[in-house]
Amino acid sequence: MIDLIKNKIHSFGTMLLGPRNEFSMEHRFLSAFMLFGITLSIISVFINTMLGFSTGLIVSSGSVAIVLGVFYYFSRFRGAYTSILYSSTVFMLVVVSIVWIESGGSQSPVIFIFFALLVFILLFFRGSLLMGMISMYTLTIILLYLLEFIYPEMITPYPDEKSRLIDHLALLVVIVLIISFFIYYSKSYYLKEKEKAEYSDLLKSSFLSNMSHEIRTPMNGIIGFSQLLIHETDPEARNNYVNIINESGEALLKLINEILDLSEIESGQGKIVNESFDLTRLLKDIRQTFESERGKLNRNKLSIELEISKSNRVNRIIMDPSRLKQILSNLLGNALKFTESGKIAFGYEIIGLNKIQFYIRDTGIGISQEEQDIIFDRFYKIENETKKLYGGTGLGLAISKQLVNLMGGEIWMESKPGEGSVFYFTLPFEEVITEELKAKRKDVKDFNW
Ligand code: ADP
Repeated sequence: MIDLIKNKIHSFGTMLLGPRNEFSMEHRFLSAFMLFGITLSIISVFINTMLGFSTGLIVSSGSVAIVLGVFYYFSRFRGAYTSILYSSTVFMLVVVSIVWIESGGSQSPVIFIFFALLVFILLFFRGSLLMGMISMYTLTIILLYLLEFIYPEMITPYPDEKSRLIDHLALLVVIVLIISFFIYYSKSYYLKEKEKAEYSDLLKSSFLSNMSHEIRTPMNGIIGFSQLLIHETDPEARNNYVNIINESGEALLKLINEILDLSEIESGQGKIVNESFDLTRLLKDIRQTFESERGKLNRNKLSIELEISKSNRVNRIIMDPSRLKQILSNLLGNALKFTESGKIAFGYEIIGLNKIQFYIRDTGIGISQEEQDIIFDRFYKIENETKKLYGGTGLGLAISKQLVNLMGGEIWMESKPGEGSVFYFTLPFEEVITEELKAKRKDVKDFNW
């Protein structure tokens, strides 16, 4: 229930302020400030109308609400940040000065809005712009005091002391709450960012220590066994050494490819080459490859099954076949690595007209709840006594996630420790429909390979 309410608040916030991944914290704050200003102005229109105060006050509060509404629209829906930031700061300074003059000058509760404006300037501006804004702000306040000092008759006095005090109290409470909220929010935002940076640093160092192990082991294999090979005369032993050297070379090549792949995708240079290919053929080939891997590992109590339902099946599709193969191989490689016995099943379902959802299900060791949240992070590798036995760089899932996202899909997983895991990913695709396929589709039956 609480989660549901939290989700609702979160999506409402996203609708009002824009999604976190597209808008910076400052940009979202700016929209929030505008909304706050609009709300205050509307409340002011409402109260002034109810209490029958001057029409001038009602019209000016209403105009402020409209101008802030326009600023909000451009900031939230047109992505304008810098121009709206400058114009809204100057606008607010002018409006607050007018309200100050109209409602008692130095006796006015508007002094609290000046404080809120200072927090706004300190939060949003940096460097020389901050200096410029602070100077303009201070100058405005000095000018307002001078005006009151030299021409006291220009300042409209408060109607009575009681309403002045009530206004002071009400505005003080509202402004303290608002300022505390913004400072609390920005502090927790920066703390989160700091934690993220520290965590990514930690992952990098754990990656380096992993890496030195992952590089050293095959290197030692290559150097050690090639030295042994020189002096070995027995053909069977020589064969064995050559196999070990070959496997070590393959492991090194895989590692290098993974690192290059990830850096290529992360630097935005990963390319997707869509072409027409036979999906069933590709999946059968992958199953064949992993079937022989299973044989090499002597996993006799494990079966690998490709499940394709005839009723929900496509043949030739347009997509990037080598990227698809790469993602499926990463996920199947993990399933094989972490499943001693039982079944690894993989297949897909067609969702809607042009979305395909693949799944890879295993009956392996599973992944705990806490680990599920982070395994897609790069360099993440679950380290415990049993998993230390399994090799790996912690890059496979990060690469798969980046690739799926690059191709316009999503990846997620479900798992129960001790029972197994299911990895899902969706991808957009186009089906190539041939005459032959139309005829074939008449015969509909489910089967396994
Ligand atoms: P690695 O190269 O270490 O396998 P991955 O990014 O592919 O790197 O996986 C990260 C970690 O997620 C693995 O070290 C493993 O602990 C866990 N993991 C991934 N897939 C599975 C799975 N099918 N079953 C259990 N654990 C898994």
